[in-house]
Amino acid sequence: MIKELTNQFPSVQGFVISNPADIFYLTGFYCVDCLVLYSEDPVLVTDSRYTVASKEASCRAEIVSGDYVQGIIDQAKKQGLTTLGIQEDYLTAADYVKLTEAGFTLIETKGAFTSLRAAKTDEEIEKISAAQKITDKAFENILDFIRPGVTEKEVRARLEYLMFSYGADGIAFETIVASGANGAKPHAVPSDKVIKEGEFVTLDFGARLNNYDSDMTRTVAVGEVSREMEKIYFAVLEAHKRGAQALKAGVECSYADSCARKYLESVGLGDFFSHSLGHGVGIEIHESPRLSKVSKDILTVGNVVTVEPGVYLEGFCGVRIENMFVITRDGAVDLTASDKNLIKL
Ligand code: ZN
Ligand code: ZN
Repeated sequence: MIKELTNQFPSVQGFVISNPADIFYLTGFYCVDCLVLYSEDPVLVTDSRYTVASKEASCRAEIVSGDYVQGIIDQAKKQGLTTLGIQEDYLTAADYVKLTEAGFTLIETKGAFTSLRAAKTDEEIEKISAAQKITDKAFENILDFIRPGVTEKEVRARLEYLMFSYGADGIAFETIVASGANGAKPHAVPSDKVIKEGEFVTLDFGARLNNYDSDMTRTVAVGEVSREMEKIYFAVLEAHKRGAQALKAGVECSYADSCARKYLESVGLGDFFSHSLGHGVGIEIHESPRLSKVSKDILTVGNVVTVEPGVYLEGFCGVRIENMFVITRDGAVDLTASDKNLIKL
């Protein structure tokens, strides 16, 4: 068993893993419809639909077919385990009840898993980087398509088409295309709104490849934009650079957040930067560490994190610029190749 898990929870004899990202990390097999008993003899309980796929993925656990939770109960009893770690955020209430009724002592082990995947191996970084290359290429080739008269939904369709045609297995999360005043909503959903001359368009998107995600945001101008809009853009760009410059192993994540935030405050835009600076990216789009005001996380070598300050002015416009970085001993390597300067289409 992985030492980090046993060290943190010495009384736990086996872990019931129900988060697909952790299942993939521990077994090499990405499966939503299964449960894993992670012990000295790991077992993955799934149904017959996945037996061939699990073999093809060279799953590092014995595969057992059947009812997931009953399979876990049977295997845990067979192995003589009485205390099991669980993931409360991912285990259903029904499975929790069944495990309790079967007589196991259950211990919540969330902490172990949030930190487990935070520092990436070189192989993982290569996978994230490959997903980002698809994302960068899609951005380069969507620019010709964005023009007055097309809708946000049409841009999303084209952008996702491009990512798939460049080899993506999927999209990393719901693509955001937000124009004009819609840009003021950080998590805007692409609508039938027609893009107009003089607007900003914010694209937040990522490709998923080999079970790893990428994440980037660019805000582009359609034709000429007002001086005020340009000023906002360059303020966000400067905040982005300051946040990125702060990245280095050993640095507190809250410090990186404050570097970007303080700059926006100094130019009177602090109140409009309504979310945190960034987040880890890997098998899941949002993972550890968190770059926020209140984060207690400290950057370590191998973390892959986003830096994505934004300014959102309700009813007017929004700007966000997001790149992904790998943390190193001396600083950070930018995985995002696309231009950060203001692009006028
Ligand atoms: Zn994003
Ligand atoms: Zn992000």
